[in-house]
Amino acid sequence: MDDFIDKILISQEEIETRVNELAKQISKDYVGKEIRAIGILRGAFIFMSDLIRNISVPLSVDFMSISSYGDDSESGGVIRILKDLDKPIHNKHVLIIEDIVDTGLTLQHLKEVLAIREPASLRVCALLDKKERRIVNNLEAEYTGFVIPDQFVVGYGLDYAEKYRNYPFIFVLKSKYYQ
Ligand code: 5GP
Repeated sequence: MDDFIDKILISQEEIETRVNELAKQISKDYVGKEIRAIGILRGAFIFMSDLIRNISVPLSVDFMSISSYGDDSESGGVIRILKDLDKPIHNKHVLIIEDIVDTGLTLQHLKEVLAIREPASLRVCALLDKKERRIVNNLEAEYTGFVIPDQFVVGYGLDYAEKYRNYPFIFVLKSKYYQ
């Protein structure tokens, strides 16, 4: 095992199984509708590509790239849009696809920004949720892959300083590699 891996939190097999379950549930819930899947770059891109390949209702994709104001370890709750959506979402059934919800500040602000554009519906599918870190009340993703403890994780699209996104599992980085 690579030296920087503290422990593997979620294996490739566990991810595959859960992503398929989420896709099945989403396909069921959106029968008769068309989804506009919005991937939040860059952390969600691998999750999104696996998820949507297993969704059986009509779907189109768009992407948004955002960064949170705040210090390095904590988002400040105000987002800066680095790349906006290419297409309007008015009257569309929007499904935001996120890598991880931590304090919830980023997602709260993102939902506000998108709600103003009057989609027909607005839901969130997040791969990971650090529930115990939440500071925004009543903010839950409609679809969550895994609830994880308060540890810094990378892999399967998630990075530290742009590294580790290519690993097919989710792991805890040894602290000496990010301090
Ligand atoms: P929030 O606004 O919910 O506190 O922050 C959410 C964002 O923080 C995520 O989209 C992600 O970019 C980043 N983040 C939070 N926890 C982790 C983590 O454990 N690993 C990585 N790679 N990013 C994280």
